Amino acid sequence: MSEARAVPVSVPVVTERRCIVTVHAHPDDESSKGPGTIARYRAEGVRTVLVCCTDGAEGDVHNPALDAEAVKADLKNVRRQELEAATAIIGYDRVVHLDYRDSGMADSEANAHPESFHQAPLEEATEKLVAILREERPQVLITYPDVQDQYPHPDHLKVHDISMAAFLASGDPGAFPSAGPAHQVDRLFYVTWPAERVRKMHEMFVELGLESPYDAEFLARIDAHVDDATHKVDITGFGHIRELALKAHATQVDPTSKWWFGLPSDVQAEIYPFEHYRLALPVPEGEPQDASDLFEGLA
Ligand SMILES: [Zn+2]
Repeated sequence: MSEARAVPVSVPVVTERRCIVTVHAHPDDESSKGPGTIARYRAEGVRTVLVCCTDGAEGDVHNPALDAEAVKADLKNVRRQELEAATAIIGYDRVVHLDYRDSGMADSEANAHPESFHQAPLEEATEKLVAILREERPQVLITYPDVQDQYPHPDHLKVHDISMAAFLASGDPGAFPSAGPAHQVDRLFYVTWPAERVRKMHEMFVELGLESPYDAEFLARIDAHVDDATHKVDITGFGHIRELALKAHATQVDPTSKWWFGLPSDVQAEIYPFEHYRLALPVPEGEPQDASDLFEGLA
């Protein structure tokens, strides 16, 4: 008769893989808003997922070196390929297209198109995002702020709306039951605008004897800007990603633009190696903490 022996049981410590989901309106928004942050976290082993809500088909062609008419005729496909190239540079593990039609600017014809993101029922678009959150189970969700008065594009406003609704619904098993098992995302951040970066760029233009693309009106706006970030992510070593990713959206940027690329690349990459975020949900208590890690304090 064999002797019963205790089988040692090893209990692996299962920590959920870290994951960030970002929600953006058009192909190229991911390259201008926080690309260094994604590149940095990806390098640290965090899974990175982009949700791109529209096809960008209403965009203009900003690059004079391209044949605008030919590009315009196939803009949806062209912009999808550009997004593929840009997200490979940034380091997104997955890109999910919600495939709504670009809504164009407010009161334009595109805005009334039945397939536009602007016309999509909030519930419908929210459920699509909830399904992605429940599948990917991120700790961090990044979206656009509640106040977007500098650039109130209907698609950007809707990105905010569906993100807030999806954050609240995703953890509620009673909401959208067919979108998968509930998952509560820990934090929702607004990507915010680091005016300090532009201030430093302007100073550098002057210092290098280059003509600054920022006029007095713009500089006054920068001076009036109140920095409401709660988190400043250090992107040292990843500052070049923004320029490379933006240039991958070849139809959307003029590579000779002083506004985007007026400073020497190495100077531009290192001039202000931080990207700013504001913790919006759960609503933080007290004064902004000036934290540096979007995952700080999470298990
Ligand atoms: Zn956009």
